[in-house]
Amino acid sequence: MRGLVWFRRDLRLRDNPALSAACKECREIVPLFVFDEPLLRSHVFGSACVGFMLGCLDELRRSLAGHGLTLAWQTGEPIDTVLRMARDLAVDAVYWNRDYEPVALERDRTIRQRLAQQGRTVRTFKDHVVFEAEEVLGQTGQPFQRYSAYRDRWWIKWRAATPSVLPVPAFPSRHRGSVLDAVAWPSATALGYNPVPLWIEPGEQAAHARLQWFLRGPVHEYVSGRNLPAIEGTSKLSPHLRFGTISARTLVHAALGALSKGGRVSRADVFSWIDELVWREFFQQVLAAFPRVAEGPFKTKPGLPAPRPAGPDRNRLFAAWCQGQTGYPIVDAGMRQLNQTGWMHNRMRMVVASFLVKDLRIDWQSGERHFMQQLVDGDLAANNGNWQWCASRRFRAKSSIPRASTFAAMCRNWLTCRRN
Ligand SMILES: Cc1cc2nc3c(=O)[nH]c(=O)nc-3n(C[C@H](O)[C@H](O)[C@H](O)COP(=O)(O)OP(=O)(O)OC[C@H]3O[C@@H](n4cnc5c(N)ncnc54)[C@H](O)[C@@H]3O)c2cc1C
Repeated sequence: MRGLVWFRRDLRLRDNPALSAACKECREIVPLFVFDEPLLRSHVFGSACVGFMLGCLDELRRSLAGHGLTLAWQTGEPIDTVLRMARDLAVDAVYWNRDYEPVALERDRTIRQRLAQQGRTVRTFKDHVVFEAEEVLGQTGQPFQRYSAYRDRWWIKWRAATPSVLPVPAFPSRHRGSVLDAVAWPSATALGYNPVPLWIEPGEQAAHARLQWFLRGPVHEYVSGRNLPAIEGTSKLSPHLRFGTISARTLVHAALGALSKGGRVSRADVFSWIDELVWREFFQQVLAAFPRVAEGPFKTKPGLPAPRPAGPDRNRLFAAWCQGQTGYPIVDAGMRQLNQTGWMHNRMRMVVASFLVKDLRIDWQSGERHFMQQLVDGDLAANNGNWQWCASRRFRAKSSIPRASTFAAMCRNWLTCRRN
């Protein structure tokens, strides 16, 4: 059997369910990546995100080459491209790991149907999350709308069905792909983006190195360290999770493993970090269960001030926020860092988001779009969920962490004290 493995948000060899299944079931495999031309043309994402993705792909290409495989790539509209590749390469089966964004779900449904019409097998796998939306439901079978209830059920599920982590698969000995060797790899410029210096190293090896660094150091003081934007107190693994150079399963197992070794790692710190990974899953399940959140507020809460009306005043304030020219040093520092590096610490994201929505009274969706265009880890589910949260649109959680508005107020007070 000949299988096509379509890499998407899973740019790694280790713990990759689609790749592992294809290696087990096929005598020949062809790995493929499709540069989604309409998506790239829309510039929903920016140069930092695309640059990071190219770095990850470059490493994946080299890793596959080490096993005698050539990563085929195409630029185009994904549905037609995958169907054409499947036909031209006469593959029997197509493998991919699932994606839960509304547009991706629709795309995958169409491809699946059309591949079936061509008589090809389609095999899809859970990968991007530890548990998919339907696996963590309330007692009545409804998706959770409150984080704390979701987290409690998530842990029950983890204990009942702890997922395993797959090794790098044994690759089949016969490969196709050498015919594609001659095709040069595209650059950021060729894709319509500026080449930007990457301040987080891309690729699977770098993701594992980053995890080890984090488990050796910052996780020991995560509960307090995560609140301080000036220090390296968090893992900075979000771009890696975004492009799947490491799996969420690997991270949870590694964190629990560090705890089981004893030593100076505290339960509170480790569980607080895993809590963040569960937030990530929560927002993924919200997007999967309520895809309308991508278009508008999850809940309309009475009493929230109306956004500033459209007009020159609103545009001037929004431009000042985007450029880091508001005159509020902490907001401007965050926005300038975002624009220059594609990165911003979580607490700073909360400050600038809260400032945009609650102080400048500008609609949160404008901020959400700007973040997506700048962030190296831009991810629809996490970005949308957090913007809705900062704009008080939903998701109560039992937590000792200050809410975004409280945190912004704390920062403003701090600045006022310093000025006086
Ligand atoms: C307005 C706003 C927009 C955001 N947009 C994004 C985005 O587009 N992509 C993105 O990955 N994160 C987003 N976040 C969440 C969070 O800021 C980042 O995930 C975090 O800063 C990544 O840093 P880290 O990897 O060092 O996190 P760590 O503190 O080491 O946490 C580990 C992992 O948990 C996940 N995580 C942590 N905090 C959150 C959170 N609040 N929500 C969801 N997942 C979380 C991330 O995958 C992160 O890598 C946003 C937060 C805010 C307030």
